[in-house]
Amino acid sequence: MSERPPEDVPEGIEAQPRGARQRGSKPIDQAEAAKRFLAAPRHQQQHDARLWTLRQRRDEQMWAMPEWEELRQLASDIKEHTLSRLDHYLEMFEAKAKANGVVVHWARDAAEHNKIVQQLLEQHGARTLIKSKSMLTEECGLRADLAKAGIDVVETDLGERIQQLDDEDPSHVVVPAVHKLRTDVAKVFAATIGSDPDNDDPPYLAEAQRNAARPVILSAGAGMTGANFLVAETGAVVVCTNEGNADLCANIPALHIVSAGIEKIIPRMGDLAVFVRMLSRSALGSPITQYTSHFRGPRPGAEMHVVLVDNGRSERLGMAEFWTSLKCIRCGACMNTCPVYRRSGGLSYGATYSGPIGLIIDPTFNARKYSNLPYSSTLNGSCSNVCPVKINIHEQIYAWRKVLVREHETPFVKRAAMRAAGAVLARPTVYRAAIEKTNDALTSLPRFVIYNGMNEWGKGREMPRPPAETFHQWFIRTRGDKP
Ligand code: SF4
Repeated sequence: MSERPPEDVPEGIEAQPRGARQRGSKPIDQAEAAKRFLAAPRHQQQHDARLWTLRQRRDEQMWAMPEWEELRQLASDIKEHTLSRLDHYLEMFEAKAKANGVVVHWARDAAEHNKIVQQLLEQHGARTLIKSKSMLTEECGLRADLAKAGIDVVETDLGERIQQLDDEDPSHVVVPAVHKLRTDVAKVFAATIGSDPDNDDPPYLAEAQRNAARPVILSAGAGMTGANFLVAETGAVVVCTNEGNADLCANIPALHIVSAGIEKIIPRMGDLAVFVRMLSRSALGSPITQYTSHFRGPRPGAEMHVVLVDNGRSERLGMAEFWTSLKCIRCGACMNTCPVYRRSGGLSYGATYSGPIGLIIDPTFNARKYSNLPYSSTLNGSCSNVCPVKINIHEQIYAWRKVLVREHETPFVKRAAMRAAGAVLARPTVYRAAIEKTNDALTSLPRFVIYNGMNEWGKGREMPRPPAETFHQWFIRTRGDKP
């Protein structure tokens, strides 16, 4: 993927916009963080252009495969079948993995996961853990917990390492630092690994990071990978990367820990082909990832442990309207296509998972904290259309809005506005009168009366000029009767 900014982005120094601010127990204000991202045009335009390029490449791959829709259906069916027999396939995986010499652990939640990992590291005397990209460990807050125990965690994925050195979370599930300009990366590396602050050439920056990280990788006491897929019939862990860093983490230290969500299971090796064909095409618009690594057991003289993590997944599985969100293979296609995400950046969501998939997963972790997120969508349905496992994302976003209203997690102002709108929309005569009066007001009132601090909607948008007559008036005039 190109790291060059689009031609029309104006040159000049622009501070990197930061993510959502957490204010005590108040819900995350994504709109406020998005506003700051929009106020940084170089970042915003480059972010939008990069992600739209990925979306277009994904489309090219899709059109090149006549069986694309058939594969999507198959992928969805396999996931739904597996999720509806999850206990069976998890036990099958556990038995096979144990037979292969792997130690399998079960973690009920994030705290238990982090404790298991910490104990393993302490048992092996490992003070440094090298790891490849894993959204699950972000979800569990692993790095922070291990830091408290004096264990140093070093990210080996380039984007993830940039984010770690900048003390930021990943902003995208596939391209964690996609919201940054090359100049931002040069600044972070200059401050942390001593590279030239004026050199923002991507190969130079990648080389500088490689040189800084390689000695740490070679001497680390333990390595960790995530898992894209867990194959029940063989007990294999499959990890897809483009940098080969997962292979370093798994193959250099004498201890390999795999951190995997329980929804990553697929029944057979034959099923893997379906997902491998869909994953990279949907994510980056490339036919396949550079590395599709299969880890089936420990190397001679080494240990391999798999930690299977629930952390709310079983509960989500029981949610009639939301359980299919567990089909997600974290390709990021829904983020790349989302007009809100592309223009606001992943960090504005203030959650591990951002973009459309985040809107339906995050409230399952904390309904109050993420109660605003389901409103950060136009409900245009593009996310559902590109999803390789056919999750009805936009319908679930809408369903969350209803749940949050029912559970009183919607702000008073929004509730009052919706109640007023409902009262008007339920009475045709009142509705028609309101439309006519609004059209008159929009044409005759001075601008400051309409576009002022009270009009949140109008802060970033212009109202279209109202038509000379409403549809109802047009119908009466041309048909001479009531519609
Ligand atoms: S919801 Fe679908 S499109 Fe979005 S990340 Fe998951 S699999 Fe990809």
